[in-house]
Formats: sequence, structure tokens, C-alpha cells
Amino acid sequence: MNNRYSRQILFAPIGEEGQNKLREKHVLIIGAGALGSGNAEMLARAGVGELTIVDRDYIDWSNLQRQQLYSEQDVRAHIPKAIAAKARLEAINSDVQVHAYVKDATAKELEELVQGADVIIDATDNFETRFIINDAAQKYSVPWIYGACVGSYGLSYTILPGETPCLHCLLQSIPLGGATCDTAGIISPAVSMVVSHQVTETIKLLIGDTQALRKTLVSFDVWNNEHSSVNVQSFKKHDCPSCGENAIYPYLQKDNTSQTAVLCGRDTVQIRNPYMENADLQSYKKMLQGKVHDLKGNPYLLSFTIEEKRFVLFQDGRVLIHGTKDINEAKSLYHRYFG
Ligand SMILES: [Zn+2]
Repeated sequence: MNNRYSRQILFAPIGEEGQNKLREKHVLIIGAGALGSGNAEMLARAGVGELTIVDRDYIDWSNLQRQQLYSEQDVRAHIPKAIAAKARLEAINSDVQVHAYVKDATAKELEELVQGADVIIDATDNFETRFIINDAAQKYSVPWIYGACVGSYGLSYTILPGETPCLHCLLQSIPLGGATCDTAGIISPAVSMVVSHQVTETIKLLIGDTQALRKTLVSFDVWNNEHSSVNVQSFKKHDCPSCGENAIYPYLQKDNTSQTAVLCGRDTVQIRNPYMENADLQSYKKMLQGKVHDLKGNPYLLSFTIEEKRFVLFQDGRVLIHGTKDINEAKSLYHRYFG
């Protein structure tokens, strides 16, 4: 394994010194979908010493087209993404310490996880979580790297607390929302482009080469051959509630993460019940036996069918209800079985 990193060390801006720094660093990756698996694999191969991965979902057939850490076997076994990612990353590089959390990235969780991270990578699919990341990153002064992609389009932006405008500053000036993977689909080269930007910026930050940071919001469309790089420095707002002089970190103030959410691209509603944290899956299995159809489980989750809707109950008390986007329908089914 002596020459494992030899080609990366030969790259002058990294060198032996940079390689040693990478081994001492810790990157927090929020989301283990397409962006999360791409980022995690590159950083593990590059020899970053510690990775923490947070994801609330399990692997589905529709993920395999672009989520590079997962296999058909993971789909068949209903393995949560964070758990399968950890196993695959440890097989790729046993020197890397990988922590996996099958959880929603709520304000409470993120405030704890962000402390101790050197860089945060946004690999989420929603703005609710991105704004929590943005506030936590500002509060604890950890750089984070925004990334998003849909169709053949992607964008990325590096946010340095105390220096660059934050995501909140950009809210009114830059169109951040728009199409989702539900409506426009996605091709994996768009994912890889965003991952390349995120990983490169991460490595620059980890080895301290801040001069080399891009400093612009980059976006591209790999199908329509478009590329742009926008200098957003003038958008920094001194009265920004997230990064301004009297910041109040609004997204950390109350737990803004909804108790219910419709998951992007999944025809699925998630319900979070704070009273069910640390659910004992074995006793739920006993309770549900005979009352539901096709009851299956593994150490991380239970799945079963009620009125043609597939339910997945996780250890942290969340339930995913597949086959509906109707929050009220999902809630009424949920409350019949879980009170
Ligand atoms: Zn701001």
C-alpha cells in the first residue's frame, strides 16, 4: 500500500505535505444519494482520514443508475444508504474511518455533527436542509460546499463563513429553486461534474490552499454545452440573519424540519414522530404481525404493506410511506397503526 497515493502526491499543489494533511481531516457529507456517494468515494480514495455520512433513506432500484456506491444486492436487502456506503467505502480504503447515520439531518443533529468537521459537503436534494447546513456552518465557522443537479444541469458554490456571501445572502439574487429530479430526471454525468467541483474545492480547503479556491458560483449544462461562472461577492449582506453582524441563525432557532415531508422523486411521504426515536424494531415487528402484509425486516428497518402502500419504519422512528404524495392520506394511515 506504500504507493497508494503516489500519483496524488506527484501533483505539485498537494505533495507529501498535503497528503499528510488529508489524513488528519474530517469531512461531513449530508446525503448519500448521487452527490453523496460520488463525493464520499473520491474523498475515501484520496485518503481523507475521517468521513461522516448522514442519510435518511434506503436504496431503491431507481438509484442504481447514478448512485455509484450501491449494488443490486443492496436494493434486494433494503439496506439504508448510509450503511451500504460505509461498507463500500471501507472496502475501498480501510484506512478511512467512516461514521454512518441513518437519520434526518435536522437542526439538532446538524449542530452536533458540524462541530468537529473540517468541511461540510451538501449532497442533499432540498433547500430546507441546505438552510440548516448554512446556519450551522456559519455558527461553528465551518466551510461548506453547496451542490445541486437536475437533468443535465448542475451548480456548485463554496461558502466560507466570515468571507463569502452565504446561501441566505443569495436567496433573493440567484434563482436557486426550480425543477427537481421528479420533473426533469437526471443523468449521471451532471452528477459527476458537480462532484468534481465539490471534491476539488474540499481538497483545496483541507490542505489549506485557499488561494486556489474558485470564489464563484459555477453552473453548467453538460447536454446543452453551457457553462457559467458568476462572481457573487457583491451579494454579501451585512444584515443577513445567517451570516451578518447580528446573525440569529434562524434555521437553528426552532427545528424547522417538518414533521412530514414529501420525498423528491419517490412518490413517498415521510413522517417523523419525535416520541418514537430509538424504536425497538423487534417489538414493532411483533405488534404488526398478522395486521399487515408482507412484513420484512433487517437490523435497520422494518417494511410492510398496508392498503397497497408500502411502509418502511426506521430505527430512529421515521416512517416512509410509498405510493402516495398526499400528506393527509399518509398521516391518516400512519395514525391508525402508530397512534
Ligand atoms: Zn448571509
